[in-house]
Amino acid sequence: MIVIRCPHCQVERHEDELFYGGEALPPRPSDPLQLSDPEWTGRLFFRSNPEGAVIEDRCCAAGCGHWFRVRRCTASHAILDVAPPPAMPVPLPEFSS
Ligand SMILES: [Zn+2]
Repeated sequence: MIVIRCPHCQVERHEDELFYGGEALPPRPSDPLQLSDPEWTGRLFFRSNPEGAVIEDRCCAAGCGHWFRVRRCTASHAILDVAPPPAMPVPLPEFSS
């Protein structure tokens, strides 16, 4: 069982009390029309699924309702870092077209 302390309300919650929002993505482009169809496909449907550290979005669903980011090791499920989204920016993905 993964236990994560919400950075907003500071309460430790079990993972079933936190809504999983998936792998964190960089902010939506300011001009969505600049991305090609393959770039949108990569952004929306393909995840890196690495063995090691990933950054995920989680929502404190059973508590304060705020979203935050978690850096977690997929091999050990160790929680490496927890922060509100602006404090943990997501690296830009590399798209291939
Ligand atoms: Zn909370």
